[in-house]
Amino acid sequence: MKVVKFGGSSLSTGEQIKKVFDIVISDPERKIVVVSAPGKRYPTDEKITDLLIACGKKYLEFGSATELLNEIINRYILIAQELNLPITFSNKIKSDFIQLFNGNKRNPEMFLEAIKASGEDINAKLIAEYFQLRGIEARYINPNEAGLLVSDEPGNAQVLSESYNRLFHLRSRSGVLIFPGFFGYNENGEVLTFSRSGSDITGSVLANGVKATLYENFTDVDAVYSVNPYIVTRPKEIRELTYREMRELSYAGFSVFHDEALIPAYRAGIPVHVKNTNNPFAPGTRIVNEREQLNGPVVGIASDKGFCSIYVSKYLMNREIGFGRKLLQILESYGISYEHSPSGIDDISIIIRESQLDESIEKRIIDYIMHELGADEVKVEHGLALIMLVGEGMRKNVGTAARASQALAKAEINIEMINQGSSEVSMMFGVKEINERKAVQALYHEFFAGVLVV
Ligand code: ASP
Repeated sequence: MKVVKFGGSSLSTGEQIKKVFDIVISDPERKIVVVSAPGKRYPTDEKITDLLIACGKKYLEFGSATELLNEIINRYILIAQELNLPITFSNKIKSDFIQLFNGNKRNPEMFLEAIKASGEDINAKLIAEYFQLRGIEARYINPNEAGLLVSDEPGNAQVLSESYNRLFHLRSRSGVLIFPGFFGYNENGEVLTFSRSGSDITGSVLANGVKATLYENFTDVDAVYSVNPYIVTRPKEIRELTYREMRELSYAGFSVFHDEALIPAYRAGIPVHVKNTNNPFAPGTRIVNEREQLNGPVVGIASDKGFCSIYVSKYLMNREIGFGRKLLQILESYGISYEHSPSGIDDISIIIRESQLDESIEKRIIDYIMHELGADEVKVEHGLALIMLVGEGMRKNVGTAARASQALAKAEINIEMINQGSSEVSMMFGVKEINERKAVQALYHEFFAGVLVV
């Protein structure tokens, strides 16, 4: 049995949903279908989820938002019309949305959660209706009834471990099951959403829960590329990746697959196959536990902007027991999470996402570290980009760091920091944001020139 997930661009119009239908029915093993809300139809279009959030906020502020609500309803009605669904169904979509927006707003955060989730929920109902119209036994599955329990963290819900056993019963339900992505329910039966793009998580959790043989993730590109195609034209496609490689790549900016979505499939040993709805016969990319390493050390290069480093130096830091803990505790007291911490004998840099700091927090943290830890110097460097070279092959290849730094040197790019974790799946280079593109291009050229398939 396979779990198949379709992203928003695969469901943005009636035409797209017809492609989804063809893909699902072409393989009887495709039994559980996870759907996103309708996404963009063209680059400047709005995703339904973004419209829902904007509309929900307006309702909270002004008590109504007729224009926006109509825009949302019309998007669905247009799709329903393109699929020749009965007018009664379109009327039902309309009344469901109106009822939802006029619902209980005593807890604004939970109100918004329900609004956000409705994008996928109503889409799943619509798609089930279409499958039935085409003569397929299909049904909409409500995540609460199915047993998808999540933690109480609005916009960042985590799946509770008991969900997996509870979802197993879906295996024995007959027909194609259309399951809305992106949200689950807490123990009180309230809706909570995952982080953005979280339908990938739903698919992975279901694949684990029903012990699927494969989790297929349909999107709008032929494969995961070895580098961002906006930075390098026509980059190499990746045929096979390990879970760990994919996790590293999606952490550092590869948006094809949500970085939290791998764990459930990985734990159950279920391979993930990324495929293109618009080109379903393309081979796509398989994410597996182990792969044969035919290429060189690097499988992909990812990069992400918006980091800064807090540099702390203190003479004899290496001898001071508890220095690192106290430093991280200061950040914890400000609710700041850190990403990396390369260190020297008398200094340490803490890399964090810049969005967590504003001027006043930054100043307070610097003072705090200076006085509490008796540091000699504390400075914050802004505008950093992190570039990750990723590949299991690095463990076996000698000289990857040398090749990378030489390529950067040749391109006249100063490396602000280097970090390699002990797993040796990735190597990280910090450079100034303005150099990000040039650095990625130089590294791509070094590791991929002449490579045919990764
Ligand atoms: N519709 C949600 C979002 O835009 C979730 C998803 O598409 O996976 O974030």
